[in-house]
Amino acid sequence: MSDLIRKSVRAMTGYVPGEQPKGTDLVKLNTNENPYLPSPDVQDILSMIDISVLSRYPDPVCVELRKVIAELHGCAIENVFVGNGSDEVLALCIRAFVERDGSVGYFDPSYSLYPILADIEDVEKKPVALDARFGWSMPDDYAASLFFLTNPNAPTSFAYDKANIADFVKRFDGVALIDEAYADFAEENCMDLALENDNVIVARTLSKSYSLAGIRLGYCVGNAELIGAMFKIKDSYNVNYLTQEVARVAVLDQNTMKANVSAIVETRQLVADKLSELGFEVGASRTNFLWVKPLGYGAKRLFEKLRAKNIIVRYFGNDERTKDYLRVSIGTAPEMFQFLDAVEAILDGGE
Ligand SMILES: *Cc1c(COP(=O)(O)O)cnc(C)c1O
Repeated sequence: MSDLIRKSVRAMTGYVPGEQPKGTDLVKLNTNENPYLPSPDVQDILSMIDISVLSRYPDPVCVELRKVIAELHGCAIENVFVGNGSDEVLALCIRAFVERDGSVGYFDPSYSLYPILADIEDVEKKPVALDARFGWSMPDDYAASLFFLTNPNAPTSFAYDKANIADFVKRFDGVALIDEAYADFAEENCMDLALENDNVIVARTLSKSYSLAGIRLGYCVGNAELIGAMFKIKDSYNVNYLTQEVARVAVLDQNTMKANVSAIVETRQLVADKLSELGFEVGASRTNFLWVKPLGYGAKRLFEKLRAKNIIVRYFGNDERTKDYLRVSIGTAPEMFQFLDAVEAILDGGE
């Protein structure tokens, strides 16, 4: 039976997303979702949609949505691709830019989907290990067809030095995909590198800063020729009508996104300060989550104790370098006070 399935697919393990448990008494801080409402214009557009349009196929190339994104970044619509979440954008990059005997690079640890996407296409993986402080330097002779550079990085929450990134992409022979899922929570981003370098693509998502993980919309910006190649190979109607409309009004409303981001950044600082006081090692986050190391208390044990109190954070126990850390998404202030109270009780109680 199993020989009906491609060898590479049999051998690979699928991506395991963070739990999405049902239940309202949970404090869910495990998948970096945004706790605030998306733009009110989303509600308006949804109530205005005439259901008769749903019997027709949507615009296959999403012109109205891409216009709004192009305007936002000061580029042409030919520089913009939109996909069913940025996960689809990443998958299409491998299919468009990596030959069968080519390779895909990424930092380790980083977004755990990259190696799985490489396995699906059965191409070589060339991870570059981050150092003990989760920084990087490229090996001198490093080469790959495509490199996924996550900035700010997940799960570590840190941003890399932009000059180093600019320097790397200039020397790199392949396509550099800078995954900026969290860039709206940072002071800096690399969008200009995508517009200035023929081999650089910057990917963004509406899942985090725009509070729209449920509509599945990601996009990328880059050289028109690379973007054109992605259009050639995508599914005909990869972004549905409802998502195109919702995303369009959400991107137009920058104020709501920025207000939500400010609230999260403020809460992030408060939680970081408090956790430092409680004896955690807390790095400088440029994302909507914190990467923290409890000192004098096991990360796994704390994860489990929190889980028992209906507070879910993320624990990556299968890697020597991440097993002492927890990734904590920033929720609303009341949620974070509940989290902090629980942490304090667990540490105090010697539980
Ligand atoms: C969340 C995330 C994504 C996925 O975004 P979607 O648009 O929801 O598919 C991509 N890359 C990184 C680093 C992420 O954290």
